[in-house]
Amino acid sequence: MQHNPALIIAHKRDGLELTAREIEVFIRGFANGEIPDYQMAALAMAIYCRGMTAEETANLTDCMLQSGVTLAATEGDAPRVDKHSTGGIGDKVSLALAPLLACCGCQVPMLSGRGLGPTGGTLDKLESIPGFRTDLSVTEMRNLVETVGCVITGASSELAPADRQLYPLRDVTSTIASIPLITASIMSKKLAENLNALVLDVKCGNGTFMKTPQQGLALAQSLVSTGQRMGLKTSAFVTDMNQPLGKMIGNALEVQEAIDLLRGEGPEDLRQLTLTLAAELLVNSGTSSTTSEAEQLLSEHLTSGRGYEKFQQMVAAQGGNLDAERPLAPASELVSPGAGYVANIDAEQLGRAIIELGGGRRQMGDPIDLGVGLEIEVRLGDCVQEGQMLARLFARESEREFVGKLILESIQLDQQASVAPDLIIQHIPHSAKN
Ligand code: URA
Repeated sequence: MQHNPALIIAHKRDGLELTAREIEVFIRGFANGEIPDYQMAALAMAIYCRGMTAEETANLTDCMLQSGVTLAATEGDAPRVDKHSTGGIGDKVSLALAPLLACCGCQVPMLSGRGLGPTGGTLDKLESIPGFRTDLSVTEMRNLVETVGCVITGASSELAPADRQLYPLRDVTSTIASIPLITASIMSKKLAENLNALVLDVKCGNGTFMKTPQQGLALAQSLVSTGQRMGLKTSAFVTDMNQPLGKMIGNALEVQEAIDLLRGEGPEDLRQLTLTLAAELLVNSGTSSTTSEAEQLLSEHLTSGRGYEKFQQMVAAQGGNLDAERPLAPASELVSPGAGYVANIDAEQLGRAIIELGGGRRQMGDPIDLGVGLEIEVRLGDCVQEGQMLARLFARESEREFVGKLILESIQLDQQASVAPDLIIQHIPHSAKN
């Protein structure tokens, strides 16, 4: 009687703390089909409205983790590390970071997701490479981390399957933006990878769901403390998402920009963030002794082309063909209607523009056009002249005019110069005990 699902929902609805046993009964019942979607949705809404304590969040994470298997590791394996980003516009860091860390001798078994709403997803980006498979089994993942060093694939039904069932329900019940639910979703998948160190890139700003640094910090602290409670060395960076990361937004375009970075080129903000996150993992996994030593090693892998060679190896091992033509829509230029300093870039509106082009999803399962997107030529604080090119639009004829207007509206000019925000806002280190 005490563990009747309706009573558990009522406890949370009334603001009571759920016991470990109540959470376990509920999540286990949901994962094995005994508790229906409508009761899970009701509990998700109660959690959304009432929140959870750090202990409840860790228990929820653990139950979601226990719903599946973990990626086995053997004594003597190389340090296993991963990074997770809460999602932003133009964020293609994972594509370069995984091969770079593999070049440094780490194993990177990266589970990634698809784009939903304005922010893109790593799996969609990689699928713009003809043949690339993102549905690897746990056995294939393990095989690739041992032979290549890195793998980027979707969460299968084997690792944290409760999250795979819960995420679409949260999507259609507007319960995505809940710190305990986000924490349990992200951390159950990352814990299933059996890592030695994890770093989280928690974005905040107009191009992501945590709008302020305070909200970003609250999510980062929840993720770090849950990881630490579960025995994983976890740290985080709160980073700015008030403008796109890099220049390219759109699936195939972002793959190209990640390749540029791996060949020692690419935009400076993308390079800085990739090196910061990767260096954190090298230090926390004991692979490098200091951040500067780690950054030096990573830079050498970029300039020598070894990072790109590792990416080629990973793509080939996952069935992709980098020599085959990737989709790309016809390009046109968008020019500035006036002169001034770039005062605001509405990154979320740029993400919505990509959806209008067909490059993103309104609902889970929507098909997407991998060849559309945008190359943005200006950054916050830049001085622009009337008629100067602000962006290059890659679009099909029918959407070009409407989306072109949306994009121009999202770049606002001012006559006063303003200071561009720092990319890295705050570092939340792991606590020394792990
Ligand atoms: N990414 C996830 O994997 N889960 C969430 O809930 C939000 C972002």
